Amino acid sequence: MSHTSVECFVLKSINYRDADKIFTLYSREEGKISAAARGVRKLTSRKSGSLDTFNLVRLNYYESSLGYKTITDTVALRSFRNFKNVPNKVSIAYKITELLIKNTKEGLSDLDLFDSLYRTLSLLDDGSVLGTAVFAHFLINFMNSLGYSVNLEKCSFCGEHLSRKWEGVWFNPDRGGVVCRSCKSFEREMSLKEIALAREIRKMEEKSYRFLQKDSPELMRVRDLFDDYTSYKLSL
Ligand SMILES: [Zn+2]
Repeated sequence: MSHTSVECFVLKSINYRDADKIFTLYSREEGKISAAARGVRKLTSRKSGSLDTFNLVRLNYYESSLGYKTITDTVALRSFRNFKNVPNKVSIAYKITELLIKNTKEGLSDLDLFDSLYRTLSLLDDGSVLGTAVFAHFLINFMNSLGYSVNLEKCSFCGEHLSRKWEGVWFNPDRGGVVCRSCKSFEREMSLKEIALAREIRKMEEKSYRFLQKDSPELMRVRDLFDDYTSYKLSL
């Protein structure tokens, strides 16, 4: 038996046997892993609270010769209490964890993705940015980490740099980027303002927070654009 310590987010748990649970975790050290916690559903268990979904925890596990992991002890590092009281933010967090569960491999570490998840949950918890913007931010960075980077800088066909001279912008999901008027065919049209907003959302610097505090038609269209792009690429 080998003992290992990891820092991880709790993505999901399912009940197992009478008092056990099996957790799906996303760790800094090993990417996605599954591990069981014995007796965690008993009221007296000290582990149960720190293993709430979305928590960041430091935990130790041992691995059997067959590769089954069992959690031995845990320490909660962050529990993101603020957003857990806001139903629409909780549903965003569930969508994010579902994307991670479905589209990442067990045991494959990705530090950028771990950091992006940390940033996303911190932004959700912060309260100064709308959940809609935080979700779009995660989607752009998540797609990037899966190798589907998004090009918001120049025409995906002719390479012309996007500027104010463009009288409209289109988005091509196959190319994962913007398209100019001369190159467009059946792409979805976006406004220059929406693409500028999408760039702010990708970086999500503190100076852009003020644009992202109230829902606007532009913000929803940017969210929908990346939501559709994600579904399209991941369904191929
Ligand atoms: Zn072009």
